[in-house]
Amino acid sequence: MEVGSPEPAPFELSPELLASVGRLRGTPLCPECLGRVYGRWGHGLTNPDRAERLQAHVEGLTRAAPTDCFLCAGAFDRWPTWIRRAQEASSLYEWRRFTCGSRWDPELLAREEALWGIAASAWGESARAAFNREWGKRLSEATGTEGTTTDADLLFVADLPVGRVELTIAPLYVEGRYRKLDRTLPQTRWPCRRCRGRGCASCSGSGKMYPTSVEELIAEPFLAATGAEGTRFHGMGREDIDARMLGRGRPFVLELRAPRRRTLDLPALAAELARTAAGRVEVDGLAPSDAHRVLQVKEASPWKSYRVTFTGEADVEKVKEALRLVPLRAIAQRTPTRVAHRRADRVRTRKIAEVAVVAAEPGRFTLDLRAEAGTYIKEWVEGDAGRTEPSLAQLLGVRLSVEALDVLEIHDSTEE
Ligand SMILES: [Zn+2]
Ligand SMILES: [Zn+2]
Repeated sequence: MEVGSPEPAPFELSPELLASVGRLRGTPLCPECLGRVYGRWGHGLTNPDRAERLQAHVEGLTRAAPTDCFLCAGAFDRWPTWIRRAQEASSLYEWRRFTCGSRWDPELLAREEALWGIAASAWGESARAAFNREWGKRLSEATGTEGTTTDADLLFVADLPVGRVELTIAPLYVEGRYRKLDRTLPQTRWPCRRCRGRGCASCSGSGKMYPTSVEELIAEPFLAATGAEGTRFHGMGREDIDARMLGRGRPFVLELRAPRRRTLDLPALAAELARTAAGRVEVDGLAPSDAHRVLQVKEASPWKSYRVTFTGEADVEKVKEALRLVPLRAIAQRTPTRVAHRRADRVRTRKIAEVAVVAAEPGRFTLDLRAEAGTYIKEWVEGDAGRTEPSLAQLLGVRLSVEALDVLEIHDSTEE
């Protein structure tokens, strides 16, 4: 007994309790289930202990063997089987923390509620809750792992009517930042449009529009290290395929589905990536991550700095003059034609906070600029046939054509 904690109430056989128990005559119950009708009455006893005391004081109760029990049909009598099935289901996986649950015949659960009504017992604990708790305790002892309700590696569900343990494997998450140095790489694996990934003549059987991607280059050593079934790649936005991603890189979370191994040597994986993706993708800041971070990364709308090079018949002084009209003025952008197939067609207003010419030669200019999340930079330069207003081409009154675009930095805050 800890100092300061209240003395546990004894299992007091009050007249009220004994009257309630009397109403259970004629219902075949195993000791576990009889005791559990009063599971929250008093402390420090197991349900079979409770049943034993009640049976000593109330005559005529129908004792049942577990398999004949009206409520549990023997569910509480097969722990070694449930533990063995959980161990068999999980034998290929590394895990330290688990959650367990159970699926019951709804009729048994309904019977239990009805029985609480008949007994007028306000102290019953449900068979499912008691089973889950006891199973978790025994599984933890048998395997040396930890039962938990959050951050579990595995979820076991005992399907009682079927007699099987179903296993769900939690994903493993790793985060970092990537730089993309290659103007031919999409961010994620892009299934072939024609065959949708099955493989056809137009994709030479690969099932993909591009031979590889940032996702696949980063995922490869992680798939080998974890034995995962596949990956999902969560980037904080994405750059165009032909744009480089420079600076500190773009934050991402790599989700590894159904990993067999969870202990990762991140420095070794970083070193391997530096070798296998060299010249195409660079990764920094690899660290363990979680599903919560995926949401943060998906919901972030950071300002970004870009470098854009374009050509057009303009004079550098005219360009500089036009750029004076740009900072912090509203730019209305209707969804560009090139992304209209995957985004709703609407007009959004964006801002560019700073813009400056960093290189100029006749007919060719390079600008650095800082823009609000979601600004379409190519369209702002070229005008997208009037869908972006005002565009730089419109301000100059000439036709402009973007030659190259790089993301120089993804800023930390959503402030301009
Ligand atoms: Zn029972
Ligand atoms: Zn194809």
